[in-house]
Amino acid sequence: MLGLMQEHPLLVSSILRHAARHHAGAKIVSVDPEGAATRGTWPEVEHGAKRLAQALARLGVRRGDRVATMSWNSRAHLEVYYAVSGMGAVLHTVNPRLFADQIAYILADAEDVVLFVDPSVLPAVQAVANLLPPSLRAVVLMGPAPRPDLPVPVLDQAALTAAEDGDYAWPLLEERAASSLCYTSGTTGMPKGVLYSHRSTVLHAMSAIQPDVFALAARDVAMPVVPMFHVNAWSIPYASAMAGSSLVLPGPKLDPASLFKLFEEEQVTFSAGVPTIWTMLLAWLRADPARKFTAPPRLVVGGTALPVAITAGFLREYGIPILHAWGMTELSPLGALNSRKAETADWDEARWLDYSRKQGRPPFGVDFRILDAQGQPIARDEVAFGELEVQGHWVAASYFNHPNDPAFSADGWFSTGDVVTEDALGAVEIVDRAKDVIKSGGEWISSITLENLALAHPDVALAAAIGVHHPKWDERPLLLVVKKPGTSPTPESILAVLEGKIAKWWMPDRVEFVETLPMTATGKLWKAELKRQFKDYRLE
Ligand code: ADP
Repeated sequence: MLGLMQEHPLLVSSILRHAARHHAGAKIVSVDPEGAATRGTWPEVEHGAKRLAQALARLGVRRGDRVATMSWNSRAHLEVYYAVSGMGAVLHTVNPRLFADQIAYILADAEDVVLFVDPSVLPAVQAVANLLPPSLRAVVLMGPAPRPDLPVPVLDQAALTAAEDGDYAWPLLEERAASSLCYTSGTTGMPKGVLYSHRSTVLHAMSAIQPDVFALAARDVAMPVVPMFHVNAWSIPYASAMAGSSLVLPGPKLDPASLFKLFEEEQVTFSAGVPTIWTMLLAWLRADPARKFTAPPRLVVGGTALPVAITAGFLREYGIPILHAWGMTELSPLGALNSRKAETADWDEARWLDYSRKQGRPPFGVDFRILDAQGQPIARDEVAFGELEVQGHWVAASYFNHPNDPAFSADGWFSTGDVVTEDALGAVEIVDRAKDVIKSGGEWISSITLENLALAHPDVALAAAIGVHHPKWDERPLLLVVKKPGTSPTPESILAVLEGKIAKWWMPDRVEFVETLPMTATGKLWKAELKRQFKDYRLE
């Protein structure tokens, strides 16, 4: 017997319609590259998105067509988000910091028909001017700029919508229709596209606002520092509209002083970003005792592990809790969060801070399977390692244009490539990526554990541990360290920090000081490049 309930497709446009109808009082603040803020409301965003949808339809954009953006977190970008998905086309956000050949590759792979570009990002587009795909019909400038020399027509977002009245009804789409497309950052090989649906996007946003996830409420002022080209800013453009929250879009200037000013002036209550952002903010706050928050916001961190020292600094010195989240492009991205449970509710601060290094447990909608090298489930003992596999409502079923990738198993699980332990409470801790674990004499050493411990040394700015060739043990750990300016730590003093905290055979065989470490376009340590640089390194 079927239930007798209404059925409405889960559509991205329904999120914006809800915000516009029921949360007209929330503010949408957008900061331009010069630091000037403009203010608006959800109804104005919907009106702008409808005018843009009308303009795109006039340009010949049809359902299923891919429309790319290269832009920062801004009101104009938000309107493109909702216009493109809302009209049934597919929003393809491109990271402007990718290498030129990667940008050219993904524009071609996606077969984008229109590319929206923030004027400050034009050089990245001009760098690929000769490599733009034949599918591309127009470049649309998202703000005033001199006309660039490009082989396709260049239009202007404001002029494009000027003739439109916004009298437009969002089409009733099939909820499984594609809504947006993001590419993995390509730390291994060429980037791969993940094609989200309206249904997966809406369910993911509903999860994102939950109390143990982002806990977004209508009275919140949310500021995504994570860029809108980084896995849809972790759903905040959708989740905030669904919750009816205010939204602060900080533009390209993400230095600590600019962010702090926005936190204070806009009374931001919630923000999310990668570890580098919060690490820099903490250092900047500490530099002047007058730098205090009038009302401490809640922060979320993800993308790479955040050293516990940073979480502790924010909580103890500023009263700011940081929620540790884990995610991937293939998971829209939210996969796990480490919020308190019944069993951890009464833990004191020190115990909880230590535990906060873990990535946590999945919210409803995502499930985990952790198998060891023999394909057996691992023990929940915090010691056994296994590769994390996931399944759920917002997990990819395959890659765009690459139907048979081995990461997707025949029985419906996605293999994350992350190696984790699990504890009795079901919280996972990433000990490495499968390809980065250091394999010494057939046993695994977690490179991430070594790095995190080394970062506790006061003179260490950055640390990376990689496996280098060893005649007897196959691989042994080499620790690469960037010193803090003006300091001169010794290798012995750094290894002393690790002493007693790891098994003896995990101890790096050597410490080398380097000027910099290679980073990917999403600000992660680029281990593949590092291993290439050190492939001929000899310990003997
Ligand atoms: P890519 O896989 O190309 O680096 P993603 O942005 O999808 O691009 O990154 C996902 C990966 O980032 C995860 O598989 C994991 O290794 C890492 N990651 C994400 N969040 C965390 C976290 N909180 N702690 C440690 N690693 C993380």
